[in-house]
Amino acid sequence: MDVFIEPIGRLINEFTKLPGVGRKTAQRYAYKIIGMSETEAKNFADSIVNCKRKVRYCKVCGNFTENEVCDVCLQRDKSTICVVKEPKDVVAMEKLHEYKGVYHVLHGVISPMEGIGPDDIRIKELLARIDDSVQEVIMATNPDVEGEATAMYIARLLKPLGVKVTRLAHGIPVGGELEYTDEVTLSRALIERKQI
Ligand SMILES: [Zn+2]
Repeated sequence: MDVFIEPIGRLINEFTKLPGVGRKTAQRYAYKIIGMSETEAKNFADSIVNCKRKVRYCKVCGNFTENEVCDVCLQRDKSTICVVKEPKDVVAMEKLHEYKGVYHVLHGVISPMEGIGPDDIRIKELLARIDDSVQEVIMATNPDVEGEATAMYIARLLKPLGVKVTRLAHGIPVGGELEYTDEVTLSRALIERKQI
């Protein structure tokens, strides 16, 4: 990469750390930044640092928030908890404007292949949230092998607690992800969820 002078080479290297960005794209991004005014470039850099400084996890649901507890946890119906793998899945569900309950972000799924066990994701925290006010837990992990296994594992733990456990209906392609499921399909999967 010696064809680039040091500051440009360094910026290109940083961009290649982003998902789906190869060297060519990184080079395009770097040139775009160089073409910006100093103010624009500074705003860009500031927004990155600002995110790192201000964004943290909600201590209840584990989603991103600027405060100790997120607005969803503070304002919404706590009788239904929708369990998802990652914060981006909350975004996919929220886009439907249909779900009125709260969330629980696991930050991963059980995956023996990758050495991720039940204690490595936020299952204990979910169990701690279950009390008499919780009527339903919707398992909305992705319909792939790990997502299904995680949903079943958690359902087994929840049932003795007397809470109704449901799973998003099929229609989401097997092996697919919530994030890439179109809104009509995801909406139907939510409405037609089945008890497990
Ligand atoms: Zn929250």
